[in-house]
Amino acid sequence: MINDLFSLSAWASGQNNIESLLENTLNSLEKIPNFKKTCFCIINKNELILQAGSKEIDLSHLFQIFQKAKPIKAIAEEAFILLPVFIKEQLVALIIIETQSSCDLEALDDFAKIFSNTLSRIHEKEELENSYRETLEQNRIKTELLATISHELRTPMANILGFSELLSIRDFNPVKQKEYQEEIYKSAQRLSNMINNFLDLARIEDQTGPALSSFQKSNICELIDKAWAAIKHINQDYQLKLESENEPVYAQVDAEAITRVFINLFSNAIKYAAESKEILCSIKNRRNNIEICVKDYGRGIDADELESIFKRFYRSEKAKNHTVPGTGLGLWICKEVIEAHQGRIWCESEVNSGSSFCFTLPIGN
Ligand code: ADP
Repeated sequence: MINDLFSLSAWASGQNNIESLLENTLNSLEKIPNFKKTCFCIINKNELILQAGSKEIDLSHLFQIFQKAKPIKAIAEEAFILLPVFIKEQLVALIIIETQSSCDLEALDDFAKIFSNTLSRIHEKEELENSYRETLEQNRIKTELLATISHELRTPMANILGFSELLSIRDFNPVKQKEYQEEIYKSAQRLSNMINNFLDLARIEDQTGPALSSFQKSNICELIDKAWAAIKHINQDYQLKLESENEPVYAQVDAEAITRVFINLFSNAIKYAAESKEILCSIKNRRNNIEICVKDYGRGIDADELESIFKRFYRSEKAKNHTVPGTGLGLWICKEVIEAHQGRIWCESEVNSGSSFCFTLPIGN
C-alpha cells in the first residue's frame, strides 16, 4: 500500500534532518486514502521532545502505554492506528494516524522500520557533526592558548632578563636599583601566578581536581593576608580593606587552593581597576557557611557577560582590546576550586562602578 504511493528506500535516503523527516512523513502518510490526519511525536528518555501534526490528540497517555510494551507492531484502536517506532528496543517515536477504515498494518510496520532506520541514521549523522564541531573548537582553543601562553610568558620574562642584565653590568644609585629589583620581582610574581594557573588547568583537565589534597580547618583572614602579600607588589598603590563580622573566621578548606582563589580575584581587581585604589574584602557568616566578597570600584562588567566570565579561556573583548594581560583562566579556576568545596561563586557588577565577586565556603567542624 505504502510502496504503491512512494518508494520507501528512495524516500528514506532523501531525509537529512529530523524536521524534514517529520514533515515528509506527515505529507506522505496523508496521501494514503482513508487516512484523515497524522500526528507524531518523538521522545527521548521518557520525555516528549518533538510533536508534529494534529495537536488535537492527547499523546501523553498513549506514550505511557507504549513505553511499557516490548517492541510491538502497529495496532488499530477505534478510528486510530498507532504506529510505534523503536530503535534498539527503545520507543523513540509514535505515529498516530486517524483513519476511516481498516488498512494494511504489516505495510505500516515496514514503514515504521524504515522510519526508525532513517531516524537512527540522522541521529548518528548529527552526533558525528557535533563531535567534528567540538574537535574544531578544541583545536581553536588550543591554538589560541598557545598564542596566549607565548605572549603572556614573553613579556614578564623579557622584563626579568632585561632588568637583571642591567643590574649585573652597571652600578645604579640605591633608588634606581630598588626600582629595577621591584620590576624583576613583579614580573616573577606574574609568571608564578600564571604557571600556577596553568598547573591548575592541567590538574582539572586530568580530573585529578584542583589540588584539593588537604581540607583543613583554616583561618580565612590569614589566607587573605597571604594572598595579598603575594600580589601587592604588582601595584603597591592599592589598599585592601578587610571587613569581617567575627574574627578569626575558620572554614574547612584546601588552604593553598583558596589562597590562589584570592590571588586571582585580587589581581583581577587591580588589573581591571579604574581610578579608585581600594579593594574591599568582606566576610559574612551565613547559617552553614561563610560568604566572602571581593569588591572593586573598577570598570565593571556588562550584564550579558556575567555568565561567560567563568568559562574557561573567556576574556572580554574589552580586556583583549585594552591589552590587559591575562589568559582567561583565573575565574574558571576559582569556580572549579569553589565548587569542589561545595560552594558557589557569582559576580554582581555595574559598568563603570565596579564588581563584586562573591563565594561561599562551608564552615565545617
Ligand atoms: P583574565 O583576567 O586572564 O582575562 P579571568 O578568568 O580572570 O581571565 O577573567 C575573565 C574576564 O572577566 C576578564 O577578561 C575580564 O573581562 C572579566 N573580569 C574579571 N574580573 C574582573 C573585574 N574585577 N572587573 C572587571 N572585569 C573583570
